Amino acid sequence: MSEVVIVGGGLAGLVAARRLARDGADVTLFERRDELGGRVRSREVDGFTLDRGFQVMFTAYPAVREELDLNALDLRTFAPGATIARPDHRSTLADPFRAPLSVIESALNPDVTVTDKIRVLQLRRELGNADPESLLDGPTESIREYLDRKGFSQKFVENFAAPFYGGITLDRSLSTDAGVFRYTFSMLSRGATAVPADGMGAISDQLAARAREAGVSIETGTEITAVDGAAGEATVEAGPETVDADAAVVATDPKRARELTGVESVPTDARGCVTQYFRTREHRSLDTGHRLVLNAVDSYPNTVAPLSTVAPEYAPDGHALLSATTLGVPDRSDEELATAVRDALVTWYPEHRFDDLELLATDRIEFAQFDQPPGFRDGLPAVDAPEGSVYLAGDYTQWSAIQGALESGQVAADTVSDDI
Ligand SMILES: Cc1cc2nc3c(=O)[nH]c(=O)nc-3n(C[C@H](O)[C@H](O)[C@H](O)COP(=O)(O)OP(=O)(O)OC[C@H]3O[C@@H](n4cnc5c(N)ncnc54)[C@H](O)[C@@H]3O)c2cc1C
Repeated sequence: MSEVVIVGGGLAGLVAARRLARDGADVTLFERRDELGGRVRSREVDGFTLDRGFQVMFTAYPAVREELDLNALDLRTFAPGATIARPDHRSTLADPFRAPLSVIESALNPDVTVTDKIRVLQLRRELGNADPESLLDGPTESIREYLDRKGFSQKFVENFAAPFYGGITLDRSLSTDAGVFRYTFSMLSRGATAVPADGMGAISDQLAARAREAGVSIETGTEITAVDGAAGEATVEAGPETVDADAAVVATDPKRARELTGVESVPTDARGCVTQYFRTREHRSLDTGHRLVLNAVDSYPNTVAPLSTVAPEYAPDGHALLSATTLGVPDRSDEELATAVRDALVTWYPEHRFDDLELLATDRIEFAQFDQPPGFRDGLPAVDAPEGSVYLAGDYTQWSAIQGALESGQVAADTVSDDI
């Protein structure tokens, strides 16, 4: 039986491990933290479920459908669209992805032009049923350049696209590769935006359970310090122990993957964010239904998510949980950022008071996604870029999202299975 070591227990490593075990390999996965899931984890604080930064899953992602049992995740879904907010003004963009016609009926009218409605409809037709594989490819251009080329108004770009896609790509300037826009736009028009009732960490828990069921041996709390490959063999340093295997898959975060393998094309420029969690003593509605609230003016905060409205399980009875995400990791204290969130909410909702909004936790995440400038995919490393029997898995071999991470695990496993 071939022996394979997986380094890293994020989504990519867990998928690669399970697939290889299913293909008949003897698989051991090492994770340096005490818990699995990497960037997709949740924790409980005072009865509230807090994800590691505000994250959502698009149910239409092909790899999500292949790797996860969505029913068992007991998903809670956001309503499509968003509430767009600026001082003394809120408007609702109802469902720009699945029912573009509703855009014009929505109160967003002052924020976009009629032509935008037609453009969204055209884009829905063009991207809604396209082969997902083709969506990431295209001319080398940014999201902003793509939207300009497609004829969207500056109002649409600034009021909706900048905060909405800025939230997805953690880059409000929309300088990310247009392929990421096309892919996510298409997924939004095909499926739901959801979180599991037990938090995003339930995704990782399910993948870990499935890997164990397939026979994977998982060792948490073990940091791999070196990986070496030669033809037909791989050596992994696990603390004082040296583990020999027929192959090793490095499925760490990109920075560590570059250090361990020496592959220079692993992208390490980061996009970060700060997510703050707030509780209120009573249930407080933001009049947004199950939609996100987007800041049309700046990124302090960029997005407010009514988490316990969407997923009541995220908060104990009688309490509400909101998250507010600021893009980048600004040099401001937690309290300064929380004050900016309260100030923004007060200007958006002058009819409400937010005195009882209590800061529960602040997640400062320096490396949430790797930077994805136009044409970034041309420079990404191949799965078999390292020397000998060492392979790469991780979002950085595809693109920075749950889909990219899951798919990278699939590709790595198939490549290793073919080679050994
Ligand atoms: C705040 C935030 C918001 C996001 N929002 C979304 C979203 O809404 N939708 C979406 O699709 N994607 C989102 N993403 C991106 C998505 O979460 C990531 O692309 C994906 O989780 C990456 O998975 P991975 O397995 O490639 O890497 P990671 O999750 O980074 O996993 C790598 C694992 O390797 C371990 N490791 C590192 N070094 C070692 C070592 N030496 N030895 C052993 N183990 C090691 C790490 O501890 C980690 O567990 C977001 C990410 C963040 C952080």
